[in-house]
Amino acid sequence: MKVFKFGGASVNNADAVRNVVNILNNYADDDLLVVISAMGKTTNALEQLANAYFKHEDYTSILKSIIEYHFDIINDLFDDSHNHIFEDINKFFCALSHKLSQKPTNNFDLEYDQIVVYGELLSTKIIHHYLKTTGVWNIWFDARQVIITDNSFKEAKVNWKLTTDEIEFSIASKYKDGEKRIIITQGFIGGTPNGISTTIGREGSDYSASIFAYCLDADEVFIWKDVPGVLNADPKYFEDTTKLDSISYREAIELAYYGASIIHPKTIKPLQNKNIPLKVKSFIHPEEEGTIISDIDHADGLVPSFIFKKNQTLVSISPRDFSFIAEDNLSDIFKTIADIGIKINLMQNSAISFSICIDENKYRFENLISELQKDYKVKYNHNLELITIRNYDQQTIDKLVNKRDIKLEQKSRLTVQLVVEG
Ligand code: ASP
Ligand code: MG
Repeated sequence: MKVFKFGGASVNNADAVRNVVNILNNYADDDLLVVISAMGKTTNALEQLANAYFKHEDYTSILKSIIEYHFDIINDLFDDSHNHIFEDINKFFCALSHKLSQKPTNNFDLEYDQIVVYGELLSTKIIHHYLKTTGVWNIWFDARQVIITDNSFKEAKVNWKLTTDEIEFSIASKYKDGEKRIIITQGFIGGTPNGISTTIGREGSDYSASIFAYCLDADEVFIWKDVPGVLNADPKYFEDTTKLDSISYREAIELAYYGASIIHPKTIKPLQNKNIPLKVKSFIHPEEEGTIISDIDHADGLVPSFIFKKNQTLVSISPRDFSFIAEDNLSDIFKTIADIGIKINLMQNSAISFSICIDENKYRFENLISELQKDYKVKYNHNLELITIRNYDQQTIDKLVNKRDIKLEQKSRLTVQLVVEG
């Protein structure tokens, strides 16, 4: 069987939904589990709704626009006003309105999850019913019953033991009778063992697909995107990007780690563990090959790939008395950084100084500087850019640095990272 994942951009209007259904029809002989995100920018809108609700502000116009957006799509897709979709969608909006009519607890993350899950519930119901009207029998499944998490709301951690058991019990069994099955379910959402809704972190639907694939021992996973596959650079910033045809799990994880927005970084591990290939394909040109991420061991991606992180700050830390940076200083510094919750994008040390490159965040930065200044001399530069190049060559470095001043450079066999003026 195959696991498919469709993101918000692939279902952002009625024509997009028709396109997804066409793609599903191209796989008429396969058992499919289809993971779908909320339509378009619905999750952002629901976030705003959750914020307003929690702050006791007037949220009616936000709610209204979410309702209208979905009804516009439904009215376009369904001719028959007696279709069950209307009843199902009304039920979800009634439940959401009921939730909003109650007083929030003081736990924002909990409240957020109870509201934001509706994006995926709505989108999957629409696709489920629309597929049926085109004659394709399929099952709608509530992922909250099987993706079992802890209660760290908004970033819930998957309980693999319970999730595997639930998926085996409720989903795997459905594929075993030899009939072709299509199951439509949600990305991004889960539930606690007590049945309280959770979400697993923004952009988490890729990870959901990977969890299902792992638990179902899928043959392959397809992530359908608005780009032709995994590209060597972000097409938002570069015109001449190259598609990578085939990369290893390792390369995919490295690229995601450095910040390439290809797939959610947590997606690869479960697939690698069971050697399930992942295909990244275009929903605009589904006939094209896309990128395959798998267990290949040759030196893949000879094409240089590059990732930019803007708004970086470089902080250099030295002992006040010109003594060496030693292990005890480092452990001190790391503790401070971890306590403040800063993520290091790059680090380097010399005899008497230790440098880190971090994302700009005024509050955390000020906190860090005031803590460090108690014991160290601290220097910093704002407005920098961190460039990471995998499979680098000098020509690519020169092109990307573009004569700017290099503040820091770090090279390994396959990767070079450069901090330059922004
Ligand atoms: N709908 C969620 C989001 O926008 C999850 C996802 O799209 O992966 O973050
Ligand atoms: Mg999305």
